[in-house]
Amino acid sequence: MLFGELSGYYDRLSSISSRLEMIELMSEVFRKADKGEVKSIIYITQGVLAPPYEGVEFGMAEKMVEESIAIATGFSKEDVEKEYRKQGDMGQAAQALKEKTRMRPMRAGRLSVNEFYETMGKIAGMSGAGSKEKKINALAAVIGASSPQEAKYAAKYPLDELRLGLGDATMLEALSLAYTQSREKKAALENAYNICSDLGLVGETIALKGIQAIERFKVTLFKPIRPALAERLPTADEILEKMHGKAAVEQKYDGFRCQIHKEGRRVRIFSRRLEDTTEMFPDLVKAAIEEIRGDKLIIDGEALAYNDETQEFLPFQETIQRKRKHGIAEKAAELPLHLFAFDIMMLDGEDLMAKPYHERREALERVLKGSMTLQPSTRIITSEPKELEEFFERSIENGLEGIVAKELDSRYIAGARKYSWIKMKRSYKGELSDTVDLVVVGYYRGKGMRSEFKFGGLLCATYNEKRDVFETVSRLGSGFTEAQMVELKRTLAKQVVKGRPVRVDAIVEPDFWVYPKYVVTVKADEITKSPTHTCGRRKQEDGTEAGFALRFPRLVGDEAIRKDKSPEEATTTKEISEMYENQKRVKVADS
Ligand code: ATP
Repeated sequence: MLFGELSGYYDRLSSISSRLEMIELMSEVFRKADKGEVKSIIYITQGVLAPPYEGVEFGMAEKMVEESIAIATGFSKEDVEKEYRKQGDMGQAAQALKEKTRMRPMRAGRLSVNEFYETMGKIAGMSGAGSKEKKINALAAVIGASSPQEAKYAAKYPLDELRLGLGDATMLEALSLAYTQSREKKAALENAYNICSDLGLVGETIALKGIQAIERFKVTLFKPIRPALAERLPTADEILEKMHGKAAVEQKYDGFRCQIHKEGRRVRIFSRRLEDTTEMFPDLVKAAIEEIRGDKLIIDGEALAYNDETQEFLPFQETIQRKRKHGIAEKAAELPLHLFAFDIMMLDGEDLMAKPYHERREALERVLKGSMTLQPSTRIITSEPKELEEFFERSIENGLEGIVAKELDSRYIAGARKYSWIKMKRSYKGELSDTVDLVVVGYYRGKGMRSEFKFGGLLCATYNEKRDVFETVSRLGSGFTEAQMVELKRTLAKQVVKGRPVRVDAIVEPDFWVYPKYVVTVKADEITKSPTHTCGRRKQEDGTEAGFALRFPRLVGDEAIRKDKSPEEATTTKEISEMYENQKRVKVADS
């Protein structure tokens, strides 16, 4: 497929307003492309060069792309800057200037999708002295040889601004439709994706080897598994009932989620967001090499600062200091980490994901025996609500967040929030026990005092997994520091889009719509019903329609934007609905 043809599809995708149409159009792209092009198409469409754990970045800022456009079109840098401001979008600016320029390309529209992808990969890979100029010139060559329509996407791609609105779920359904003639194989594709975290690889596998290969997909060392997540329940009774009367109850540690892959002396550590964070943890790497009694393995756990002498957990504010790019070794010596391991997904090269929890736990204890730095999470097995509550209280006293209960017979469920893991956290009177992570879909102009920042709060949404859309749940106007407001305004201004994004479902209109990309953490007092929000919206007993909303929402956390979560990892509509039900039950129990 030619890149020009793909660009044509991108224009059509950008103007579509229904998800089903998007799936159909994307599956047409897959069917038309060569099988060997599917992987490149998936990465380009998602605005990346490789899966997140490979950490490949373009390393091109707006100013550099502007220079490339200037070289490719013969306009001055000031003209490009002016056009960019006018259009509010680098791609549109490139397209407009390509239409105006008298410099005509020799081979416009002849670049294949794979050629385009490989060239862009080479640009990303340029490093060292003089690489900035080289990157600018190489991108200028691509834009120079492009049609105006292609130039639009060539300028957007390095800036991760394609904004086609195709989430992982939409892409998986499109693959299912393209290669099995039905959307029903989405679940098998999703499973394969959850255990390798590489959408490109999943696409390539189904294109080249068919659905059977997807159904047989196995865990691979050094490809991170999308982490299992926990549901919430507010009481010990409910947790035990859900777990058929008996459960393992583990301490819930608040640190860095670490998925450790090890073979011989080769160790990689992946974060919850599946980024390769190995360099951050030299102490854990050393311990993994020297202290684990087993090989070809994958372990899941939480790393946090722990004072061996006083046997105290240090608060997250201390642990977070280990997140740094420089002075890693010094900080590691000053603030050593412990890994509390709670699962094992591979041992001796064998995929353990389908084995029951209790068997995996035995294997985990075996391989960690004698290690000082890596130890199994503290836990009890109980069928008594009272015992569970006492264990919970002790965990809180020890400075932990709460507990996570695990179903004894359950397999490791990658990438999903399921009742095989249930968390319970401390609830304070008049407050929701847990924070929620919301996707920013819009923002408001400031009034009064705040007008100098031109920022008046955010419009936030939950993720509805079933519909693969974002549903509004709250206008968020408090909890921001001045610095956070400035940062949010600056970051969000770049994501402003004309009109409501396709995957956002809303009744209210913010002053500015933004492309759903960023997640914020919010604390609230209560979940209420609301006629203005679309989160979980449905007909009420009195015949009116209502969704969920947050009462007294405020931003929490030092960093306004949660860089470790993607929009699809935000709190889901289903979770909000369950939290609403939990809160009702607790109220009844309290009264
Ligand atoms: P939270 O903000 O509550 O940590 P989250 O969205 O990051 O929530 P959840 O699925 O809600 O993740 O809670 C599970 C998280 O708790 C895991 O991602 C893991 O990092 C952490 N955790 C700590 N201790 C345990 C444990 N013993 N078992 C499982 N997960 C644990």
